[in-house]
Amino acid sequence: MITKIARFLADVQPPTPCLVVDVEHVARNWRVLRQALPLARIYYAVKANPAAPVLARLASLGSCFDAASLEEVEACLAAGAAPAEISFGNTVKKASAIARAFALGVRLFAFDSAEELAKLAAHAPGAQVYCRIAVDNAGADWPLSRKFGTSVEAARELMLRAGELGLDAFGLSFHVGSQQTDTLSYEAAIARVAMLFTDLRARGVDIRMVNLGGGFPVRYRGDVPPIERFAEAIMHAMTRHFGNAIPEMVIEPGRFVVAEAGVVSSEVVLVSRRDREDPLRWVYLDIGRFGGLAETEGEAIRYAITTPHDGGETGPVAIAGPTCDGADILYERASYRLPLALRDGDRVQLHATGAYVSTYASQGFNGFAPLAEHYI
Ligand SMILES: *Cc1c(COP(=O)(O)O)cnc(C)c1O
Repeated sequence: MITKIARFLADVQPPTPCLVVDVEHVARNWRVLRQALPLARIYYAVKANPAAPVLARLASLGSCFDAASLEEVEACLAAGAAPAEISFGNTVKKASAIARAFALGVRLFAFDSAEELAKLAAHAPGAQVYCRIAVDNAGADWPLSRKFGTSVEAARELMLRAGELGLDAFGLSFHVGSQQTDTLSYEAAIARVAMLFTDLRARGVDIRMVNLGGGFPVRYRGDVPPIERFAEAIMHAMTRHFGNAIPEMVIEPGRFVVAEAGVVSSEVVLVSRRDREDPLRWVYLDIGRFGGLAETEGEAIRYAITTPHDGGETGPVAIAGPTCDGADILYERASYRLPLALRDGDRVQLHATGAYVSTYASQGFNGFAPLAEHYI
């Protein structure tokens, strides 16, 4: 565990469940990414963890921000970001939110439909816009593909239309899915976008930017390829398809920047055998699906868990949250094993929980308070 977090948990013994994030670790992750991909401008995906200390630290490093709502735009501004460093990256925005963000100085907006483009022309006149293309999300543990993005053919028409509407047809984007473990997915997406890019240039569109989205994976229970491998694959594909005329590159990492900087501390509420003959024990924690661990849906994201008894003999477990909801099961099929000595009252840690946890916590389902957060 990150030493600073281990010391905090030991010294402070904060009430559980809680999330502890080492803000300097966030800064380190950001720098690692910048070093790996120096040509890409980093727009941190605010939704991964919008806590003010995280945004302020990233703003101090010179990060740009990918905001999905007016509230996230305002959070970035409050943290010290300039409006010119913010992209309103959601392809689904209220007209009032577009207008307000534009009034605040935001000039970069995403879209993936004619209807959204018309809203941008009306409420953010002359702004830079980029069109999101749907790409294959195979290889991603947390896919995003079904809800967003359009076809290459539709994007071609939309980008031409953007210019006719007085907007700056600035670029193209894609997202290969979150916790993407296959470098090939970026290469395939770049190839798709590059063809359209060239085509649009030939038609006189002054398109200048490729937004590669986020998706870079972190270590949960298993190893993932290092970030340098993704950087190599991306630069190789960019060079191959654009030669020495590489356009402005944007990346929108969320998970990679914050996940490994956070640890959830949780108390074991109960360890039980539902049937005396059954080797399977049920371990109920004081955090579950509704306490912030929403990405355990479908057992998609499998957090590493440590206990005070690590090193002792283990046995198979199912792991569940504390609420009275039948969906509040974290892991039943993912072959977790925990020490046989584990008891109620023990404190356990769930690792790499800095991303997509704090904001997924419910407001008080079954009376359980929203997840407490400590930024150290
Ligand atoms: C969620 C999201 C991201 C961040 O994805 P990660 O997998 O956390 O890096 C980036 N861009 C867009 C448009 C997103 O919706």
